[in-house]
Amino acid sequence: MILDVSSKQFASTKKPIPPTLVGMNLGEIRALLAERGEPVYRANQIARWLYREGVSNANDMSDLPCSLRERLAQEIRISPYEVVVERTADNNLTRKALLRLADGSLVETVLMRYPANDRQRARNTVCVSSQVGCAVGCPFCATGFLGLKRHLTAGEIIGQVIYFNQRLRQLQANDARVTNVVFMGEGEPLANFQNVWSAIELLNAPECVGLGARRVTVSTSGLAPRIRELGTKSLEVGLAISLHAPTDDLRNRLVPVNRKYPIAELIDACREYVAQTNRRVSFEYALMRDVNDSIEQARTLARLLDGLLAHVNLIPLNRVEGSLFQPTPWSRMLAFQKTIQASGISCTVRSERGDAIDGACGQLRARLEQSPTANASSPARRELPDW
Ligand code: SF4
Repeated sequence: MILDVSSKQFASTKKPIPPTLVGMNLGEIRALLAERGEPVYRANQIARWLYREGVSNANDMSDLPCSLRERLAQEIRISPYEVVVERTADNNLTRKALLRLADGSLVETVLMRYPANDRQRARNTVCVSSQVGCAVGCPFCATGFLGLKRHLTAGEIIGQVIYFNQRLRQLQANDARVTNVVFMGEGEPLANFQNVWSAIELLNAPECVGLGARRVTVSTSGLAPRIRELGTKSLEVGLAISLHAPTDDLRNRLVPVNRKYPIAELIDACREYVAQTNRRVSFEYALMRDVNDSIEQARTLARLLDGLLAHVNLIPLNRVEGSLFQPTPWSRMLAFQKTIQASGISCTVRSERGDAIDGACGQLRARLEQSPTANASSPARRELPDW
């Protein structure tokens, strides 16, 4: 069977998620006010409270008239989630929050703080989820084992960034803000293209979050047609490809969407993206011991990316309880990196984050949901593919 993770196939058939103010753009807030006979110029004030101040209660919007505040509080929800638990690791530099959405779904979001150093300013990066679960089903990923439940709305996506903007302000008691957003949490972002793109527009809009498009990176398992579509958009966001294997034979098993969009088609779409945006594409490669970490595989990867404006980001595999996949030893990771670099392609090793708080996406949710389904399809119960 050919895997189809397009938005159409997996659009939720269940009842619609109730709208929230968070997730509305300026035009939509104006329309909401106009419908109620309220002055539309209040929309800018409301947007500031939602996206800059992060308020979750209309009564806190102190420059609105009392009557409007009360009306908003009674008639529409502001925030799309409530926080179930937040955990910290890495000396408080990493925070993972589990959020409960209106329909009871749970979703994870992560903040990674990087203090300033000689080469870079301080960064606060939020890794957002775009779906509840994921249909792609990569066998090394905790989210993949949970399957897809539904797409997140634009409000549920941007709400994750607003949440951590608030937390940063509370924690650092200054004007610290989220500086970068990466769509690398739960889900395949390009399978939820419309909502992801609406969230990106809200992130970028000066009257909303006001984050530069170049500070946003969308990661995909390789939906080639959607990569091409992304390249035509007006905002030039960064693109990351979850590659994880340099040959179709291996990638068909590690990233099953490859059966539909094989590597040659994926690389073609990346070339087009580079031509359209002039932006370098980042290739994410989670190193798994004795699976994809040989020097020969590094050479194959280098040949594959030859001539493409590309960067390789090697990822130490997060340990998932009961998983068949083991992290590559550090020495082998460095040898793999050197092989890629020797071919003239820039290659870095991503710092490990959040191992103590179920750092890999989907792990915390799987643990807390403890659903029979999650347990039944846990990595330990799957058969090891014939490598
Ligand atoms: S690695 Fe990404 S694409 Fe693969 S199953 Fe997990 S969330 Fe989905």
